[in-house]
Amino acid sequence: MADKPKQKTTKLIDKFGRHIDYIRLSVTDRCDFRCVYCMTEDMTFLPRKEILTLEELYRVARVFTELGVRKIRLTGGEPMVRSNVMSLVEKLGALPGLEELLLTTNGAQLEKYAGPLKAAGVNRINISIDSLDAQRFKRISRVGKLDKVLAGIDAANAAGFDRIKLNSVIMRGYNDDEVVSLAEYAIERDIDIAFIEEMPLGEASDHNREDTTCSNAWVRKVIEEKFKLADSTETTAGPSRYVQVQGKKSRIAFISPVTHNFCEDCNRVRVTVEGRLLLCLGNEHSIDLRAILRDSQCSDDDLKQALIDSMEIKPERHYFFDKDHVQPVRLMNMTGG
Ligand code: SAM
Ligand code: SF4
Repeated sequence: MADKPKQKTTKLIDKFGRHIDYIRLSVTDRCDFRCVYCMTEDMTFLPRKEILTLEELYRVARVFTELGVRKIRLTGGEPMVRSNVMSLVEKLGALPGLEELLLTTNGAQLEKYAGPLKAAGVNRINISIDSLDAQRFKRISRVGKLDKVLAGIDAANAAGFDRIKLNSVIMRGYNDDEVVSLAEYAIERDIDIAFIEEMPLGEASDHNREDTTCSNAWVRKVIEEKFKLADSTETTAGPSRYVQVQGKKSRIAFISPVTHNFCEDCNRVRVTVEGRLLLCLGNEHSIDLRAILRDSQCSDDDLKQALIDSMEIKPERHYFFDKDHVQPVRLMNMTGG
């Protein structure tokens, strides 16, 4: 029997009729890696007073769930480098009304934290990995150690996480010859893998993005030389499209924000760690939640009203593939991937 469509519960509805029930909450702009597509080599991070405290992040999450948000993804920067982040995860895990608590991480600290994250109520984890070659991994992440990430993936598996998903950004000249080996690595472990097109968010300092961006149509063709892929009927309200690897448990997702535009189904907004509510990944439309949170006169109801009102300025779509459109200057670590 087909799944019943989930009932829409959210009070956050934009002027195009899209229901927002998913937030990506950035808990830090900092990271222990410096991936070439995400950051520059010498980053300046936000001063402590400018970032939301763990209590403020929790309040934002709670108020969103009271408005009907059912899914929260913790991201960054690297969420696991935020001091005392586990106390926030535990509180979010106990939030009434929240159906899914998700995490995107570079995996470097999962050996230690996979078990506690599962115990705190995290439902699913995405782990980023762009190469299976230690030297190349270091070139792409600038500082990361591959063996830590591989151990982190094993730890997440051992902790019993269901549907672990790897995220790989394929870039010409960096790792475009590893598409099949990354897919094989996931398939051997019965886990999923998403191939993400490099997005023009901020300027990459080590390369010109136009030279490196690989389309997912090309990535899919490469995988199909080795595996039979069956289109899946599963849709997510985002830029991911899933295929099933025939005869295997793994699914492959193609996240194609650059070459495809699925904005009409968008169900999400992002909150940056400085408290900016970003209404679209590819536009600068935002409101300053930090000012509201730090105004002692502002009640939860005022905060809720500001969130409901913000729906008016959610843009219809991004313009990543439009050369005449001014692209956001913020890097991905500030955006919350
Ligand atoms: N540090 C965590 C991680 O790496 O998974 C979470 C934050 S990171 C910004 C989230 C995701 O965004 C990662 O999978 C990363 O590969 C992806 N990402 C970062 N910059 C990107 C870009 N310019 N284009 C496409 N994906 C990007
Ligand atoms: Fe850090 Fe993730 Fe950005 Fe890499 S992609 S620099 S791990 S935030």
